[in-house]
Amino acid sequence: MRESEKSATRTQCLIIGAGHNGLSVATALRKRGVEPILLEQHERIGDQWRERYERLHLHHITDAMHLPGVPYPAHLPRYLSRLDLADYLESYARLHELDVRFEHKVTQLGQKADGTWEATVTRGDDSQALQFIADQVVLAAGSTGVTPRSPSLKGREEWAGQVLHSQEYRSAEGFEGKRVLVVGSGNSALEICGDLYDHGASTSMLIRGPNSWITREAYAIYHRLMLAGGPILKYVPFTWIFSPFILFGLDRYFQFDIKRRYGDLSSKGVHPMASPPMWVMAKSEGAHPPSYVDGTWGDVGVSIFELIRDDKLATFTSEISHLEPGTKTVVFKDGQSAEFDAVILCTGFEPIQSHYATFVDAQVAEKLSDASTFRFLDAMEELPGLWVSLGGIASSRFGQDVLATRVAARVQSRPDPGRILSLPLTFVFVGLDPIQIQVPRRTILLNVIAAVALLTVLL
Ligand SMILES: Cc1cc2nc3c(=O)[nH]c(=O)nc-3n(C[C@H](O)[C@H](O)[C@H](O)COP(=O)(O)OP(=O)(O)OC[C@H]3O[C@@H](n4cnc5c(N)ncnc54)[C@H](O)[C@@H]3O)c2cc1C
Repeated sequence: MRESEKSATRTQCLIIGAGHNGLSVATALRKRGVEPILLEQHERIGDQWRERYERLHLHHITDAMHLPGVPYPAHLPRYLSRLDLADYLESYARLHELDVRFEHKVTQLGQKADGTWEATVTRGDDSQALQFIADQVVLAAGSTGVTPRSPSLKGREEWAGQVLHSQEYRSAEGFEGKRVLVVGSGNSALEICGDLYDHGASTSMLIRGPNSWITREAYAIYHRLMLAGGPILKYVPFTWIFSPFILFGLDRYFQFDIKRRYGDLSSKGVHPMASPPMWVMAKSEGAHPPSYVDGTWGDVGVSIFELIRDDKLATFTSEISHLEPGTKTVVFKDGQSAEFDAVILCTGFEPIQSHYATFVDAQVAEKLSDASTFRFLDAMEELPGLWVSLGGIASSRFGQDVLATRVAARVQSRPDPGRILSLPLTFVFVGLDPIQIQVPRRTILLNVIAAVALLTVLL
């Protein structure tokens, strides 16, 4: 036995990351008699939210965002701020007395010959690395928003203006009176545009193509439906309930709602995207994800549609060709050009596998990067003992019981109920496009049959 192994901490289950996924899996495991250790690189739970831009508010209504069993205090606003959420997560861990090891950054994770998993951990300035050995490991080290994705912009180095990614953006301070181009039309883009506009920046948005736009009012309906399904959603994935709504055009209504309220904004680049019908999704085996099931873009805080309609926010619809060196000119592919003091790239984040690759062994990283073997909320068949938990707060909380049931079964040497429990859940996350999960046609069809059966029983 190596010296490091002798001093290693042994545990049945290690959870890497104490974000909402890590915390909810840990609580679900404790309910089943397993005491996991959580390794968290930050000093405090919620720091990943505290470090994000000041204006950040969640895009799901508060009632839909709490972790199992612990609703938010009634005084919190309809849309939580990043700080509200950070504090909530911190209290959640304290309430459940979870064993979180702070400032424990996993720098290496690999599987040993005997099938157990070994994690090497560094702690702050302490140069002495620690070892942890576990039978089961849950990767909960992030879902999105870890490694920024930036398009390579020709001329960027010599451009006279400032270029930054949304992850580096803190607030509109310093941008007052400046000409700013926000690239992208997702949540961060909408919110940063609103922030800049409110602080007197001359703001433009580059909308490259259709997006899953939705009005605040329509989003509230979606959430109300979700909440109405609350008691059922505790036991079944919400797409079982929502599939029929998608089938019958909930998101067609979302598109119609934008037109009804703001008129036709298509000449300004606002092309709402609709989910394809269920049968198209089934045929494409996941290539056409439903647009509104997860990752919906709302106009929280300020109505971007109103600003666009009233020409308070200029839009560009062509991609950037290059940045003119030595000037503040941005040249677009359609030949247009305009002067800006800053370009803010709200262009999203790399798939989470790129973050795993920073600390897992090369052969593990390779298997995780392969979409056909990557399974979240599910055991990696080729990497026994390794599980992945990820997803947004509203959706992923429904899956943690399934994951914990399976991990606990393995820890306690009971028969694992198997993938039958989590199969339908894969469909819940098919909308998580960056992860590029292939959903077999059979899974989608099973979901449709299950949804119809469920509705038949319920109605
Ligand atoms: C600007 C922005 C806005 C967003 N808005 C929403 C929203 O409105 N609603 C929503 O549901 N989602 C939103 N998201 C997505 C949100 O980030 C995820 O839903 C959520 O954070 C995923 O939770 P998680 O537990 O998987 O990961 P995280 O919350 O990222 O937690 C992962 C934890 O793992 C730790 N960790 C990572 N690597 C290591 C390591 N090597 N060693 C030890 N610890 C490690 C991290 O420090 C972190 O604490 C937003 C993301 C961004 C960037």
